Amino acid sequence: MREKRGALRELWLDLRSILWPCSCVICGAANRELCLPCETGLRATIGRAGRVAAPLLAEVWAYGPYEGAMRRLIVKYKHGGAIRFAPLLGALFAGPLVAALERGSGSALIVTAPSRIERVRSRGYRHLDLIVSHSLRYITRQGHKRGQLGSFLPGALQAAPGRAGQLGLSAADRIRNAKKVRVPRHLHSRLQGSEVVLVDDIMTTGATLNAAMQALAAVGARVVAVAIMNNTQRKDEINSDGLLNNVELEGATAVGFEKGVKVRPPMWPPA
Ligand SMILES: [Zn+2]
Repeated sequence: MREKRGALRELWLDLRSILWPCSCVICGAANRELCLPCETGLRATIGRAGRVAAPLLAEVWAYGPYEGAMRRLIVKYKHGGAIRFAPLLGALFAGPLVAALERGSGSALIVTAPSRIERVRSRGYRHLDLIVSHSLRYITRQGHKRGQLGSFLPGALQAAPGRAGQLGLSAADRIRNAKKVRVPRHLHSRLQGSEVVLVDDIMTTGATLNAAMQALAAVGARVVAVAIMNNTQRKDEINSDGLLNNVELEGATAVGFEKGVKVRPPMWPPA
């Protein structure tokens, strides 16, 4: 049955590539937006999570550095309207998300970093919320009961008016800009006294996450861990040895799903 479905899917993709020519976002091979070998390679890394040292008051768990195949996939998803990559990205995010959720006592609320409202409007969807939803679906399919590790609280952080994109700002401006984050009033009581796993796609300096943690602390929530897809750093923050000053790999782990997905050996950084 599964094989038949796979063959039908390939046939459909063949037909579609005749109407809309395309190439693999990762390797450039013709006729597929994501070719089978590339997708298989990515799927083999599901469950991977590594702890990233960052100037934050909570542990940060990441799938891996913002580079290579992952970077291309994210760029296409975030800026190229490739919403169909959301299920795959959700599965890849399951590793760091489960690792972060396991730091809580079992009822953590998952809160996503704020997106600027104009970005959400132009994109037509909340890209981060969609990844989290697919990730939770994936985790549930692996045998975790729904809500067993935590549950999603969408819209818990908002960008206050006047918040700009972080790109191209100086370090000081980034910190100032990042502070324009708030928790909507109607969620204050829901968050008070609760454990939170904070989620973002890409962490650069950690300024946005720091501001988010402060906004959450102000309403009485405790961030038990942070889950990000990728970590990156500004070029000027790489020191003379080529090491990263503010983002260092501290250790590696593999996330154990209860069933379905095998526990993967530590692979950090990826080969
Ligand atoms: Zn490919």
